[in-house]
Amino acid sequence: MGKKLISVIVPCYCEEEAIPHYWEETVKVADSMTEVDFEFLFIDDGSKDHTVSILRRLAKSDKRVRYVSFSRNFGKEAAMYAGLKNAKGDYVAIMDVDLQDPPSLLPDMLHAIEKEGYDCAATRRVTRKGEPPIRSFFARMFYRVMRKISKTEVVDGARDYRLMKRKMVNAILDVGEYNRFSKGIFGWVGFRTKWLEYENIERAHGETKWSFWKLLAYSIDGIVAFSTMPLFVSSVIGILFCVISFIAIIVIIVRQLIWGGSAYGWPSMVCIILMLSGIQLFAIGILGQYLAKTYLEVKKRPIYIVNETESDNPEASLEKSCGGSAENDTGAPEEG
Ligand code: UDP
Ligand code: MG
Repeated sequence: MGKKLISVIVPCYCEEEAIPHYWEETVKVADSMTEVDFEFLFIDDGSKDHTVSILRRLAKSDKRVRYVSFSRNFGKEAAMYAGLKNAKGDYVAIMDVDLQDPPSLLPDMLHAIEKEGYDCAATRRVTRKGEPPIRSFFARMFYRVMRKISKTEVVDGARDYRLMKRKMVNAILDVGEYNRFSKGIFGWVGFRTKWLEYENIERAHGETKWSFWKLLAYSIDGIVAFSTMPLFVSSVIGILFCVISFIAIIVIIVRQLIWGGSAYGWPSMVCIILMLSGIQLFAIGILGQYLAKTYLEVKKRPIYIVNETESDNPEASLEKSCGGSAENDTGAPEEG
């Protein structure tokens, strides 16, 4: 029996600073794991800096390196999907390029899969040290809400960093939805997963590509994709208010019959109208979220578009400067 192949998927968006450091660290670990072969599949998510030319060079210098470059920024979810789709390995790992996912865990992950009978070895960080407190607070809230309203397990602090068997990768690829929320999909497909824990590590080079708003939009994606509870809650609120108004009507009729002359209460009426119309708009908004996601889903647009891969043998081409972060990730509206 030949050696097993591990594909390492590395999504990169404007990571010219981080890639060399990543490569240096990871190759050390890969070289030490002689019992398996490696393939590194870098996904350039439409970077506007020199990421592609660095990847071209890397692919020329090392046969284990492959890359797929997108025609524009499609977001990390799309990058991970493209990676899974193009990976050839018996085992597939997903890893950030900023060294927040320590490569030194790879041997442990492989051990869990080959020796302990797991289908997947995933990681979660047990601290959020070095992260802005407000971001941690909202992240915690998100996981708490998610646990309550979704049947799918979404583990608090889970990273996308994991090693999976081919059968799990195929299962994830079968989940071909457009609005992808991988943390949910990983749980949804099931399989036996071993959780490895580690303390949060701060980004080594470059800076985070996720703004607060991008994360907020991503969390709404997650909720809409894995729970219909918000729709249920808005119906319950609707029924509740029907009951309250019914009681109020009876009270008013009885009061009128006994005491008469009840033409008062304008201010309270205005308050009630404002509140009810607010609740209605809120409920319509929730409905709209689901409708919008359904709309994007039925259009069946491709999740990513490839511009170039290592087999294209490209000439050095136009490079732009990198300004700000992605504008069109999976969470952003697609219609212009
Ligand atoms: N990334 C990507 N497309 C994007 C944003 C990020 O492929 O639109 C990649 C990025 O290059 C990195 C990984 O996703 O390898 C995680 O991003 P980042 O470190 O910025 O996120 P954080 O760790 O702060 O959550
Ligand atoms: Mg990071």
